[in-house]
Amino acid sequence: MNKIAERLEIAQQHITNAATKSQRKTNEIQLLAVSKTKPFEDIEQAYQAGQRQFGENYVQEGVDKVNFFSKYPDIEWHFIGPLQSNKTKLVAEHFDWMQTLSREKIAKRLNEQRSPELAPLNVCIQVNVSQEDSKSGISIEEVLPLASIIAQLPRLNLRGLMAIPEKTDEPAKQAASFAALNTCFCQLKDKYPQVDTLSMGMSQDLEQAIANGSTMVRIGTAIFGARN
Ligand SMILES: *Cc1c(COP(=O)(O)O)cnc(C)c1O
Repeated sequence: MNKIAERLEIAQQHITNAATKSQRKTNEIQLLAVSKTKPFEDIEQAYQAGQRQFGENYVQEGVDKVNFFSKYPDIEWHFIGPLQSNKTKLVAEHFDWMQTLSREKIAKRLNEQRSPELAPLNVCIQVNVSQEDSKSGISIEEVLPLASIIAQLPRLNLRGLMAIPEKTDEPAKQAASFAALNTCFCQLKDKYPQVDTLSMGMSQDLEQAIANGSTMVRIGTAIFGARN
């Protein structure tokens, strides 16, 4: 087995262990392989090992990869980086998911620019639960108002929430952030039955994220190795 296939298996095993620990089913939690800055060959190896969901942070790099891998229509491409309004068209035209939605203006542009030949663009609202200045995303209080706007845009399909909870040495604070996100996710699910995705958890905090309802963990380095 090559290194990427091996690391994918280890990542899956971590998910299984965490799911078992919190009495959840492994198949409730998806693995998003974050391939930003990594070459086509690495994605090819992950694909050959069975991986189908990939996350990209940079618009042009992501578009190049989507085009290159159009031979594999079963790949699901997730945009997970910051998005400026002048680049929305490229995301609307190429990606299956946009996970970092936090502004009405961006939502409306994506809705207008999503081609009628494609399925509606799946979107997650990015929540900045720890209110860190360095991260984008809205507060938990702002989620329902934005969700009601997105719900009226026919070319977008609201699927859930995405968050990057602050790394902290205080376990209680960390746990509170995860729990608050899970509560917000449950409220959103009650209101919008198509909502099924809580994209939360990375290598370091995967176990806690899964214990708090995460349905998708995003892992890059542990699969593809360190980035330059
Ligand atoms: C880069 C990135 C990841 C993956 O980070 P690693 O430390 O490489 O596992 C996950 N989520 C987001 C939003 C990212 O930008």
